[in-house]
Amino acid sequence: MLELEHISFDVQDEKGQKEIIRDISLTIPAGRFVAITGPNGGGKSTLAKLIAGIEQPTAGRILFNGEDITHRSITERAHKGISYAFQQPVRFKGIQVLDLLRNLKDKINSSIMFITHDLGVIAEMADYVVVMYAGRVVEKGTVQEIFSNPAHPYTIGLMASKPVVGKKVDKLYSIPGKVPNPIDMPNYCYFKDRCEMCVPGCEGEYPCQVQLSPTHFVSCYRYYDNKNQGGEG
Ligand code: SF4
Repeated sequence: MLELEHISFDVQDEKGQKEIIRDISLTIPAGRFVAITGPNGGGKSTLAKLIAGIEQPTAGRILFNGEDITHRSITERAHKGISYAFQQPVRFKGIQVLDLLRNLKDKINSSIMFITHDLGVIAEMADYVVVMYAGRVVEKGTVQEIFSNPAHPYTIGLMASKPVVGKKVDKLYSIPGKVPNPIDMPNYCYFKDRCEMCVPGCEGEYPCQVQLSPTHFVSCYRYYDNKNQGGEG
């Protein structure tokens, strides 16, 4: 089992400090497929590099079966069985590739975290889904929860953008606007400037994580009346 606790990652360039990943906590259980999705620039690839040891987090801890591996090298992690395949060579296209991954996971009882925009692949493969937006996890849950009951307005828009078998549409829905620039992040919800579901409170600080079920979490003011409000961003 792999656990990420409050992971952040900053980079410095000539324009100043950029926060690429902010306060990410999640668990990748043993023997499961976890899909990471979200828009380009959402921090998905950086998160995978932090897990593999290609980059080092600027804050937080990474635990592998309870052992702190935050500062272990790529080689040390590889010896423990943590490895990273770049997106380009491993395209999740074709039942052939998907079956190979399934067989590999079962054979060595490993977990596989994969990054994809392809909702069909997520529905086919994933046990859990993590939705990232602008370097934050905005929603996470089981594949059933994310597909049947998406909670964050970004995820709701994402689901509305997927083609439905047997339903003829002239144009697929696309979410208006752009992901904010990491050097100029707002001090309120990062999705607010694109959100069509704002409620009173959205102009406040970045929303905390709210627990909707034992496995379903969302960061959004729409759920602030939920009793199980968590403290993580
Ligand atoms: S917190 Fe408000 S602005 Fe942000 S996604 Fe939720 S409803 Fe939209």
